[in-house]
Amino acid sequence: MRLTHQIHELGTETAFEVLARAKRLEAQGRTVLHLEIGEPDFATPSHIVEAGIRALRDGATKYAPAAGLAELREAIAAWVSGRGVSARPENVLVTSGAKPMLYYALTALIEPGDEVLIPDPGFPIYDSVVRFAFGRPVGYTVDAARARAVDAAEIARKISPRTRVLVLNSPHNPTGAVLDSATMQALAQLVEHHGLAVVSDEIYSQLVFEGEHRSIASLPGMSERTVVIDGFSKAYAMAGWRLGYGVLPASVARFIERFIINTTSCAPPFVQHAGIAALTGAQECVDEMRDEYRVRREFLVPSLNQLEGVSCAVPRGAFYAFPRIAGVLQRTHAAVAQFADALLDTFNVACLPGTAFGPGGSDHLRLSFATSLPTLEAAVGVLRGVVEATV
Ligand code: PMP
Repeated sequence: MRLTHQIHELGTETAFEVLARAKRLEAQGRTVLHLEIGEPDFATPSHIVEAGIRALRDGATKYAPAAGLAELREAIAAWVSGRGVSARPENVLVTSGAKPMLYYALTALIEPGDEVLIPDPGFPIYDSVVRFAFGRPVGYTVDAARARAVDAAEIARKISPRTRVLVLNSPHNPTGAVLDSATMQALAQLVEHHGLAVVSDEIYSQLVFEGEHRSIASLPGMSERTVVIDGFSKAYAMAGWRLGYGVLPASVARFIERFIINTTSCAPPFVQHAGIAALTGAQECVDEMRDEYRVRREFLVPSLNQLEGVSCAVPRGAFYAFPRIAGVLQRTHAAVAQFADALLDTFNVACLPGTAFGPGGSDHLRLSFATSLPTLEAAVGVLRGVVEATV
């Protein structure tokens, strides 16, 4: 079969590849410490599971409206309105995870040759989809070690007459950085001034450790220019259910609804019923999981900073540590990808090289702390041994 040129532009998410390699090693009888995949280790809270099962039993097994069940769209509109983003049900589209919404939004907004500002390091799917849509990704720095992780002045310098879209991701994968309100205001002004659209990936919005999440779409005039993307995978430990959503201008939603009709038809209705239970039920489960991530962060980050040649900023959101290990790499003369490979192949620790998130991730590792404290303790023990052997 002859493939298109364009298919070669599709990138990947290294996390899934490393997970597959780790599983192969496990099948050979090895025990692997999993710090690679960004997936909560918690079970989906039981009231959500029960709502899904009940919906199955009640026959929610037929096609649903492409845009989502009315009750879920209403619940999502109410939820985001409670956070200051004015939204009505017609502004909401329900998708099978946040990822499809990201794909639909970017491919709907980009013309060939358009430039799209994306975080670097950043979630690799932004770069992949922009290229696939014949766009040109232009990276901007995210550095959680700075007082302002994102520098609006740098973004301003990178805006050209071809720039169409600004992709934001706060809390940020992989650094855990959270956009501060002054930067957000400055970005909103740039967006207005240059007539850009914003694709704001807020999948970690409920995983902010200090302060509150704020969406750029809550700033005056911004909801008209913004596609907010969020979902259930992270906050409610529902990654495998595949449920996410977009909040966007109704005039754009009408077209993106057709993407859903052309691809999945709809998100499974019984899964949507579980989503309704998640959003409208008690939220203590989210608080408890966030508290547990905070405990893990408070173990992991200081432990990493004790290692010679390693420095790690404190992530303010999401569940990743992103240590800079330049000192260690210098001593071992290894590139970070080789180093991460060796951690898995020789020491059974699965994590990601920062370069999986773009050139801005060089010299870093990404360690997910959506895994148990004993796993993190064991992984730090291995890292300590590896690093000490290089000194
Ligand atoms: N955006 C970011 C920044 C992510 O880290 C992830 C998951 N790793 C997603 C989107 C995808 O979320 P979902 O599972 O809901 O498709």
